[in-house]
Amino acid sequence: MGAALRIPASLAEALDILRSEPGAMPLAGGASMVAMMNARLIEPTTIVSLRRVPEMQGISLEPSGSVRIGAMTRHCETALDPRLAGPLATVRQAAASIASPPVRNVGTLGGSIALSDPAADYPAALVAARARIELASVDGRRLVDAAAFFVDWYTTAMEPGEVIIAIHLPRPGQGVGVYEKLARTAGDFAIVSVAMAVDGAGSVRVAIGACGPTPIAADEADALLTSALDDPLRVQQAGALLAAAADPTDDVRASADYRRLMIPRLLSRAAEAARRGTAGQR
Ligand SMILES: Cc1cc2nc3c(=O)[nH]c(=O)nc-3n(C[C@H](O)[C@H](O)[C@H](O)COP(=O)(O)OP(=O)(O)OC[C@H]3O[C@@H](n4cnc5c(N)ncnc54)[C@H](O)[C@@H]3O)c2cc1C
Repeated sequence: MGAALRIPASLAEALDILRSEPGAMPLAGGASMVAMMNARLIEPTTIVSLRRVPEMQGISLEPSGSVRIGAMTRHCETALDPRLAGPLATVRQAAASIASPPVRNVGTLGGSIALSDPAADYPAALVAARARIELASVDGRRLVDAAAFFVDWYTTAMEPGEVIIAIHLPRPGQGVGVYEKLARTAGDFAIVSVAMAVDGAGSVRVAIGACGPTPIAADEADALLTSALDDPLRVQQAGALLAAAADPTDDVRASADYRRLMIPRLLSRAAEAARRGTAGQR
């Protein structure tokens, strides 16, 4: 028998269904979920569409100046939003580099990070941008740092019955954000990605994607890069550090060795792009 489709008009109603029906699963754009159902990788008894839940829609500026991206915001919207400026541009560029226009027109930020595919583009960008993920269940709401949200291969900090409502990003100030992606062809998943956020004071936060079960970040690398993006030796040292911290595997896209080799090279490219961006703001 097929799954029942429910389209709740409120968050409370969606959470109630997810808690009371053990086989229920949330549906965002269906970009991955439909394929997973067709392949019988998942067999929900009830599909809970989130498309009418008001709290999950759109991008807004909070009174505090921070940026809130609703979980149902599609990649095409995130990719074009000018409020994702300064260091937050890493998130905008990550969204723009996802797949192709048809996928970006359907896939959502919430659906992408719920899957927690290590090769996906948002995870590293959200870690670099110091995002916090807002989760809700019938028991209440909580905020989880992006760095703690991605726990393992396809595993997040979400508990059963929890959903992602929104992603919160710090106030977009001065500075620059960069997302560099190495892929076999335009639109493919990453072989290696580098997300870099530089604040107005020159403080750098870097995260590497597709080179381990979760994004790779290292405080020592950030410290080396801070106010030193124009120092090739420091960039090289940071690249070596991140390559050593990575835990890549061989897959159809590339070998683990190739990924490790490319981390410092992509980091140099990101540093150069950030340096040019920063220089442009002086
Ligand atoms: C051909 C193709 C190419 C792709 N290429 C890339 C790429 O290059 N880079 C990249 O990053 N991604 C890529 N993707 C993934 C894509 O970007 C989507 O983000 C991803 O498929 C999730 O789709 P969706 O948002 O429609 O979520 P769905 O498919 O609807 O849901 C995915 C999962 O998330 C759960 N879920 C959805 N929303 C929530 C929520 N708010 N709270 C909790 N759980 C939730 C669902 O229950 C389901 O388990 C690609 C996908 C396809 C089909």
